[in-house]
Amino acid sequence: MMKGTGASNGIGIGRAAVIADADLSYIVREVRDISAERKRYEAAVEHFCRIADRRADRLLQSAGENKAEILRGQITMVNDPMLKEELLALITSGTCAELATETVYDKYIAVFDTMDDDYLRQRALDLSDVKSGILAALLGRIQPDLRNLPPDSVIVVRELTPSMTAELVKENIAGIVTELGGVASHAAIVARALELPAVLGVPDVCRRIKNGETVIVDGGKGEVIPSPDAAAMKHYTAQRVQLLQARAVMEQYRGRPTVSASGERYAVLCNIAKPEDALKVNAADGEGVGLFRTEFLFADQSAPPTEEEQFFAYKQTALILKDKPLIIRTLDIGGDKAVPCLKMPHEDNPFMGFRAIRYCLNRPEIFMPQLRAILRASVYGNVRIMLPLITCVDEVREGRKMIEAAKQELRRSNIPFNEDIPIGIMTETASAAVLADLLAAEADFFSIGTNDLTGYTMSCDRGNGDVAYLYSPFQPSVLRLIRRIIVCAKKQHIPVGMCGEAAADPLMIPLLMSFGIDELSVSPPSVLRVRKCIAGWTKQRADEAAAAAMLFSTESDIRAFLTGVSEK
Ligand code: PEP
Ligand code: MG
Repeated sequence: MMKGTGASNGIGIGRAAVIADADLSYIVREVRDISAERKRYEAAVEHFCRIADRRADRLLQSAGENKAEILRGQITMVNDPMLKEELLALITSGTCAELATETVYDKYIAVFDTMDDDYLRQRALDLSDVKSGILAALLGRIQPDLRNLPPDSVIVVRELTPSMTAELVKENIAGIVTELGGVASHAAIVARALELPAVLGVPDVCRRIKNGETVIVDGGKGEVIPSPDAAAMKHYTAQRVQLLQARAVMEQYRGRPTVSASGERYAVLCNIAKPEDALKVNAADGEGVGLFRTEFLFADQSAPPTEEEQFFAYKQTALILKDKPLIIRTLDIGGDKAVPCLKMPHEDNPFMGFRAIRYCLNRPEIFMPQLRAILRASVYGNVRIMLPLITCVDEVREGRKMIEAAKQELRRSNIPFNEDIPIGIMTETASAAVLADLLAAEADFFSIGTNDLTGYTMSCDRGNGDVAYLYSPFQPSVLRLIRRIIVCAKKQHIPVGMCGEAAADPLMIPLLMSFGIDELSVSPPSVLRVRKCIAGWTKQRADEAAAAAMLFSTESDIRAFLTGVSEK
């Protein structure tokens, strides 16, 4: 068995189609007829763009608009004025078009390759794909063709480039295995969009698997099993059938509203951390973003992102989501979320310390650029602001004051924004839950953060295994607070959602439905499962289950009871 990164769920069983890289070797020549060489290069670019455009059209059909954009982006890259100018200058100095292409592209590939950000690092693969395409066009060589693979092929390739993915005929492919690439690579994105099991980053796999060999790909576990024995075949075939059946049932909920068996409407949104995650929300049929964890824009950076960088990120996200709600949570740092570029002082008890809203209210130089960036992005979609770790009314009022100050600055500069942008709060501290009646009068919406609410209520660290037995949102104390938050929100007629992990727990869902939740925000792969779960309950059954569950006095009894009624 070989290990790699599971990049797209599912079990694939088929025969290996080991794809060799195209031979792009060439002889370095000195160029005498400069103008002819420049024309040769221009012709290669034109040829490349024609092919990329055709491939993009094909990808549009098979994997959707966003994937096709990857290839159209390559056409923009190849025509980038700076890159082109540098390349033509080399040719003018007597370098042959092949070497000029290799030299200039390699320079830019090296720049992107060293970037910390996963997304930007992936641009190196795009550039390398473009480079190979131009070289193949210059040399008149044909790149690997994946269009004519036999049915049940498991593609085994060093690196699955965007142009290769455009050639994939989904019906013929059982799985994908690569030597290079991670969960954020194009290969992973396309594999997920096509729902093909994929394991990426398996060392030396092109040499270790033979063409035609039977291979099992377990995209969930990140495992590849070459030449499986009869027992493994039986086990994985059964698992594959089960997964396909479960997926088919789930798929019935795609494109449908989230509604209980008795007709009450809910919404299933998603939690994201990067603008490109919004693509996953659309692909998963999420109804919007209930939590954008913006601290990830600050992580792994040498300096905090500027207002412009943040504006770009929020605007991109809003544009991808179109009219769907986008709840942007302001910087939630400290405790479990370290942001080294902010150089926060050491604290003995960081979970109780100078963090999240407490830090932001005291650091206008960090907070104001973020608020302005969110406000500016608000004209591009259905954007809302959410303040984290609220413990008292003053924090909401102070936060609102700073938002008003940011609005005032934008008004003065004639920069448009949504004057009525909703301002909500995370209810994730015990204090916020106890004060939910007062806070509901100050906030436009609530979102229950059960990850922290559980930790703060049970006085146990969410990351400490030794106290994990206490860390459960089904603890009676936590459930009482969840119920209180929802009831207070309803009394004040403000929407209330849940964005902690518990929102996707099938045992929690009937309780939330009964208490009166409006929205659940979960990871994109959970959307259809949560929608299906909601559809399985009538309000009356959920009410009965909740009323009975709330009478138990221990976490284990509550869980056991809910497990029993959920299985019915
Ligand atoms: C939470 O606390 O439940 C939450 C959603 O926020 P985070 O996990 O980012 O702290
Ligand atoms: Mg939290």
